[in-house]
Amino acid sequence: MPITTMPRPISSELVTLRLLNARMDLSEHDKWNYARLEKGLEGELKFDLLTDGLVNNGIVIKGLLLEVNDSEFQIDTTLIFEGIIHLFDVKNYENDYYYENGKLYSKNGNILTDPLLQRERCESLFLRLLKNLGFNYRVESRLVFINPEFTLMQAPRDYPIIYPTQVNRLMKQLNEIPSRLTKMHENLARKLISLHKPVSSNMKLPAYEFGQLKKMIMCKLCYSLSTTVEGNFIVCKTCGHKELVDAAVLRSVRELIILFPGIRITTSLVYEWCGRVIHKKRISRILRRNYTRYGHGKYSYYQ
Ligand SMILES: [Zn+2]
Repeated sequence: MPITTMPRPISSELVTLRLLNARMDLSEHDKWNYARLEKGLEGELKFDLLTDGLVNNGIVIKGLLLEVNDSEFQIDTTLIFEGIIHLFDVKNYENDYYYENGKLYSKNGNILTDPLLQRERCESLFLRLLKNLGFNYRVESRLVFINPEFTLMQAPRDYPIIYPTQVNRLMKQLNEIPSRLTKMHENLARKLISLHKPVSSNMKLPAYEFGQLKKMIMCKLCYSLSTTVEGNFIVCKTCGHKELVDAAVLRSVRELIILFPGIRITTSLVYEWCGRVIHKKRISRILRRNYTRYGHGKYSYYQ
């Protein structure tokens, strides 16, 4: 295609849980939620590789968090073609599931939030939003199970989902949709992206405070805290990843801002947060180069 309008945004809930998981002991439930979000993202990224391969004329919007009439909803992938908009909810479920009396169960008998109900809700909210914005398009939404290890037993034949074995055929079908885009399609895409909410109002995060979190520079790649300083680099003892000290310090500052919005960034705070492994003078130099300094001496802070 197509025009891919932006990289897939990672939800702030997942970003925060990644940071917290590295820096504190999460409860079983938070760990479960964290793993579920990582797994979901993995599935969405797999689906991105497929939509990136489409060659007809359309617009792909990856990951939208929208709100209409106080109801928040999320669309994993939106494909805008000339005459139709396709919405996809991507599930990365693994292993065996079964369907009984209108409900989805995992192998061990746990009932899952009905993904079909979710899909219907999402579609109707999206239609309402389009109407509010003054657009009138045909919309079709589908559920895609992307994981090849997923099996659903006893599902009715007309269950409107795409199974892993049907994903390639789906891409073929999408590729054959004749489509010529106009300014109006672009305007719609731009409008939708402008409405994307960076932070969900339904985040499920544990309580945490600065004092309780482990301090060290986190590896950018594997999120472990077992890193050391070697000259100009931060080296991860777990995965071997190397990152320039300056970049790693700035990343750590961004972590602080994500975890503690509004916190006052000072040299001492960053020194503490990075596990006291980088000289204060060096931290102060990095901050001065990248942020604006306010105040003097001991009382200075950066924004
Ligand atoms: Zn690592």
